[in-house]
Amino acid sequence: MTRMPSLFVSHGAPTLIIQDGPAHRFLAGYGAALGKPSAILVASAHWESRDLLVSTADRPETIYDFYGFPKALYDITYAAPGAPAVAARAAAMLRDAGLKGAEDPSRGLDHGAWVPLRLMYPEADIPVAQISIQTGLGPAHQLAVGRALAPLRDEGVLILGSGSATHNLAEFRGQPVDTPPPYWVTAFAEWTNTALSEGRTDDLLDYRNNAPHAARNHPTEEHFLPLLTALGAGGPAARAERVHSSTTFGVLAMDAYAFA
Ligand code: ZN
Repeated sequence: MTRMPSLFVSHGAPTLIIQDGPAHRFLAGYGAALGKPSAILVASAHWESRDLLVSTADRPETIYDFYGFPKALYDITYAAPGAPAVAARAAAMLRDAGLKGAEDPSRGLDHGAWVPLRLMYPEADIPVAQISIQTGLGPAHQLAVGRALAPLRDEGVLILGSGSATHNLAEFRGQPVDTPPPYWVTAFAEWTNTALSEGRTDDLLDYRNNAPHAARNHPTEEHFLPLLTALGAGGPAARAERVHSSTTFGVLAMDAYAFA
């Protein structure tokens, strides 16, 4: 079994799946570049819960957790099988790490999972499960979740954080998709890349005090936290590689990172 890196991707707006652009093309090519994992465990910004949950559905349904988008998006399904055995083991590993992981047999796949996965692995033949995030517990918790799950990478499991490198939807005012990023988006995205590439995990855990314009780029934390889970899953000595960098609508940095 090939050891997989852990991965963070920015999933952008749901239209990413039908709208061509740099991040769309990156994701569409990256599945083949990465190779086929034995299963995929997704920590998505769109599954927040008080308790730490792992989805164990046999056949997770496609969830359309967005409103007012083109009808074509609601016709797309991602019929990948579930990964109940891997998910149950993940929950046990989380409990062993003192993180109280529980199983959720009914949860499907939200768009934070299926938008990037349908681009990366369109055949939908790799088992998928999701892990919820606990936004109120902050970055250190999400790092610990990733650390607890890191051994699964040795079995070919892809641990995928799905969020957004920057995410302030209040700053989206109908600007074109190819609008250049404002200075405060670029400054935050570049700070993140530098901190990751220099292995400054402590700085990242306190990014709200350390990174430029952190609160403006992430008024709420849920789209940044999956990056910490992916970083944690890379292990304590993980080397970060930015495998994609672009922006969409100016304000959404679409950066992706691999950790190995
Ligand atoms: Zn999102």
